[in-house]
Amino acid sequence: MAGISAAYHLALKQPADRILLVDEREPLTLTSDKGTQAYRNWWPGPDDTMMRFISRSIDLMEDLADQCDNLFNLNRRGYVFLTGDTENIPAMQRQAEMVSALGAGPLRVHTGGEDYIRSKPEGFRDSPIGIDLVLDPATILDTFPFITDRVVAMIHARRCGWLDSVRLGNWLLERLVEDGVRVIRDRVDSVNTTGGRVGPITLASGTRIDAQSFVIAAGPLLKEAGAMLGLDMPVINELHGKVAFRDHLGKAASGAPMMLWEDAVYLNWTESERRELASREDTRFLLNEFPAGVHFRPRGEDELLMIWTYDTHPHEGPLLPAVFPGYYGEICFRGLSRMIPVLSAYFGKVNDFVVDGGYYCKTRDNRPLIGPLPIEGAYVVAALSGYGIMASQAAGELLAAHVTGEPLPDYARAFRFERFDDPAYEAFLKQLGSTSGQL
Ligand SMILES: Cc1cc2nc3c(=O)[nH]c(=O)nc-3n(C[C@H](O)[C@H](O)[C@H](O)COP(=O)(O)OP(=O)(O)OC[C@H]3O[C@@H](n4cnc5c(N)ncnc54)[C@H](O)[C@@H]3O)c2cc1C
Repeated sequence: MAGISAAYHLALKQPADRILLVDEREPLTLTSDKGTQAYRNWWPGPDDTMMRFISRSIDLMEDLADQCDNLFNLNRRGYVFLTGDTENIPAMQRQAEMVSALGAGPLRVHTGGEDYIRSKPEGFRDSPIGIDLVLDPATILDTFPFITDRVVAMIHARRCGWLDSVRLGNWLLERLVEDGVRVIRDRVDSVNTTGGRVGPITLASGTRIDAQSFVIAAGPLLKEAGAMLGLDMPVINELHGKVAFRDHLGKAASGAPMMLWEDAVYLNWTESERRELASREDTRFLLNEFPAGVHFRPRGEDELLMIWTYDTHPHEGPLLPAVFPGYYGEICFRGLSRMIPVLSAYFGKVNDFVVDGGYYCKTRDNRPLIGPLPIEGAYVVAALSGYGIMASQAAGELLAAHVTGEPLPDYARAFRFERFDDPAYEAFLKQLGSTSGQL
């Protein structure tokens, strides 16, 4: 998605027939079709860099949706954060105030249901922006009758939702090809960097390309791509899976927003299951407390997609093919049942979890790498972590501005490759971290 978007935004500024897109796979099939394809203008700081960057990207996605009669189904159902713990409410309120002040739009606090507006399942125009903090459990349960009656508060961040990233990517690709951009299936094998500048590029097929500029958009293969230029890319990869299963709730949740449970939970086991899990070294961890953040969104009429980022260790092994722990589906399902109790009726009966996913390629500040590299003529647009679909349009636009020498937006500096070489940046890094902004 990053490569397609970069090519698209370059083609808006340059003759399209000077642009060549090289991918060794079918475009969009490594990571960009594997996520929940959601977007949010919910970025808690510490400053407004990510908020402005992603908000710009959402502006661009909305413009594109208008151009194609919303072919890629951009919606604005929102992200809903829920808690069953009254002690969490002050922190949630502070966070909502902060995100609102950083640019997410107005915060509305509801102690009753009167002014709370439910989201529309489809489309995005005419839906509110900003944030609703609902402190009235009756309103929350009236809106989402399938969630636990333990709920006490809800944040509904409104300029959020999801889209079909494959449709968006393919539509952009079709436009690129129509305009004269060439797309070839091949692997970039080596890049000549004699004299500190990009020279001939050799593909696996033996084809040699003399390019003025070379843009790396290699997703989780960024380390390997950077090594071709003799660069150590400052990234790690984290494996993240998503679980799809047919929704036994029928249509109850089909119009729901993205919904996240904000409390840490213990998984839901019977007494005999607990005894069995406790008896084995490799399953004992399933009895531990799991961190907050289990979430789902519906897909179509009868499917739920679940994600839970409870494990954020860097991935050391071979990258591909990505292999997910066999118990991941069950963990998500049992965790999600704390938010949607009716799921517990299906424990042990759901055998058809489909687990897939890919890697978040991340820097130490969990911000992307976009801009020139220390080899003249080389650029990068990558390290898009768990937000690469929502960021894709602003990322492509920014990359194109770097290549063509046009004025840069003020967030450009924050994403430069060389920021980690600046000793002063170390102090700022203490406020950020490789999971900052991650849900
Ligand atoms: C489980 C999961 C959930 C996610 N949820 C969301 C979400 O809700 N919202 C969101 O915005 N983002 C989400 N993401 C993140 C998002 O999917 C990624 O950030 C994004 O897809 C990265 O796009 P990319 O173009 O950088 O990488 P990729 O899609 O991986 O593309 C990289 C391409 O580079 C090609 N390539 C690499 N090396 C070479 C070479 N040497 N020669 C030729 N081609 C090469 C590969 O073949 C590949 O096609 C999620 C990710 C995961 C894994």
